[in-house]
Amino acid sequence: NDSDLSRPDERRIGVMGGTFDPIHYGHLLAAEEARSRIGLSEVIFVPTGYPPHKDTSRISHQEDRFKMTSLAVAGNSSFKVSRIEIDTPGPHHTVDTILALKSLFPKGSSFYFITGLDSILQLLTWKEPFLLASLCTLIAVSRPGYNVNKILDLPEQIRKAILPLEIPLLAISSTNIRRRLRDGMSIRYLTPDTVVDYIMRKRLYLD
Ligand code: ATP
Ligand code: MG
Repeated sequence: NDSDLSRPDERRIGVMGGTFDPIHYGHLLAAEEARSRIGLSEVIFVPTGYPPHKDTSRISHQEDRFKMTSLAVAGNSSFKVSRIEIDTPGPHHTVDTILALKSLFPKGSSFYFITGLDSILQLLTWKEPFLLASLCTLIAVSRPGYNVNKILDLPEQIRKAILPLEIPLLAISSTNIRRRLRDGMSIRYLTPDTVVDYIMRKRLYLD
């Protein structure tokens, strides 16, 4: 079989980075669509430690975000969660994380960084975007409110590394989930029940 992806030196590895504050079905669907359509042997979720583009004072404790991410992926044997960012001092940049992950895998492995369209359109603000684009394929999944044609505004060298992936649009964001919790609204079916239970038990996002 020519396309045998189980050979360890030909593995396709997906990496899904995020704050996951909290993780929700938008993240899980993006990862699953990338896994199944690109033939990834696994998807590694990397909860960020210190996110360079976010106001860190309001971000939940990294152990809570790690735990919720672990609960959310528990039922999928292709999904894993890495502590690579939360166990090392930040700030963390995707380019460094991909380099670090690459060093842990056999040489022939190829890497696919999975992002939403909103994130990919910010790529030029990231650390060393051209190096990043040379290290991995950037999968840009559709997200409500963002136009895939905007990718055309990015420099050619970066554009070549981007693989747009149309997925069913889910208008779910962590920001909206946090807002709902503050407003006393239900978040059920926006994220797995195990995550909902964890949030309720630990009384997260109430203030
Ligand atoms: P916040 O509202 O706090 O920014 P978020 O919902 O955007 O949270 P992040 O942790 O910022 O979640 O996102 C991690 C990655 O997942 C990003 O690449 C983002 O574009 C992507 N993503 C998040 N939600 C969706 C969604 N509903 N559909 C597709 N991609 C998504
Ligand atoms: Mg976001």
